[in-house]
Amino acid sequence: MSKESKAYKNLPKKVYIRTFGCQMNEHDSARLKDLLVERGHVICDSPEFADTVIFNTCSVRKHAEDRVYGKVGTLAKLKLKKPGLMIGIIGCMAEAQRDVIFRKLPIVDFLCGPADLDKVPDIIDKVHDGAGHIMYLGGYKSKIIPEFSKDRRDRGRAYVKIMEGCDNFCSYCIVPYVRGRERSRPSKDILEEIRKLVKSGVKEITLLGQNVNSYGKGLKEKINFVGLLIKIDNLAHLSGEPAGSPDRWACGVKINFLTSHPKDASQELFRAMRDLKSISKDLHLPIQSGSDKMLKRMNRRYTVAKYKKLVKSFRGIVKNGSVTSDVIVGFPGEVEIDFNDTVNVIKELRFNSAYIFKYSPRPLTKASKFKDDVSLQEKERRHKVLLNIQKEISSNKR
Ligand code: SF4
Repeated sequence: MSKESKAYKNLPKKVYIRTFGCQMNEHDSARLKDLLVERGHVICDSPEFADTVIFNTCSVRKHAEDRVYGKVGTLAKLKLKKPGLMIGIIGCMAEAQRDVIFRKLPIVDFLCGPADLDKVPDIIDKVHDGAGHIMYLGGYKSKIIPEFSKDRRDRGRAYVKIMEGCDNFCSYCIVPYVRGRERSRPSKDILEEIRKLVKSGVKEITLLGQNVNSYGKGLKEKINFVGLLIKIDNLAHLSGEPAGSPDRWACGVKINFLTSHPKDASQELFRAMRDLKSISKDLHLPIQSGSDKMLKRMNRRYTVAKYKKLVKSFRGIVKNGSVTSDVIVGFPGEVEIDFNDTVNVIKELRFNSAYIFKYSPRPLTKASKFKDDVSLQEKERRHKVLLNIQKEISSNKR
């Protein structure tokens, strides 16, 4: 290794990380900052002052990717001024767009998949040593690394990843292709991380997984999601009160979880949400469409009737609970009558809030082969109609 590289290696290198997308990405960026700081890097908050600029990206919609292409494009001038500036694209877009990014953006130095983030510090050294374009992708076959991020920007709150990947293959979704098959973390690692977090003063924890209801699949220990919630709720020392003490959760910790899939949600889960004091009473349950024809084309594997029954059962069991959801408009083949079905379901179920998305075809997915036959204009009209209906419902619910 050249004298210059050795010298460079000893210099604290400033890294700027910009995160796009979901809570899982927020969490991955926090963990990556830990790894980089442990390797002597300094996290900075502007690309102008950075030696390395990293974009942690999302591929769930085309718009999210276009934003990254735009942002990286604006760095071309900066790289002309600072030839040593290193640029990396990590996360889901690195996996999904692996064949085109270097061609579209030759100023990018490395790509790294969501399951390979622990490789980034080495990649930075390798690129600096002149290795040229580097790709670390497809690592999602590896086990999930236990993590405890020290970079808790929000001292009171934290995310804890309980599983990664998804086996559901909804026809519009790229997640199974960029984050791999479902892998659950052993419950002891999760409990250990929560203990450390609470000791460090965290009061609100969100358990993360693309489909938390299928937690436990593939683990040696026989446990499901409700079993995990019970173990977490039993972490007596979280409130410092002895087990069985009535006000054990007086100074309690709140445990949220994201995201549930209607095909795996159950009354067992709802009863746990009712009975376990630390567990949130808020259920996020994406419906995606109010039309059975669309749910079938989306490969969601439940019907509108089953979904309604679930929400009714939840509201019956968790009295002051809240239900939020996600809806996609303009999915291929969605005609006015299907859209009206969705409008009627939104009006009937009155979610506390709902995220409304316009469908955009994603590479690798089954739906990307369907004719994208709803015009952008019509997608925008349907999006606006649903947004207005939901806004009114949410404001009346407050
Ligand atoms: S459940 Fe469906 S939408 Fe959610 S991550 Fe899995 S494949 Fe994607």
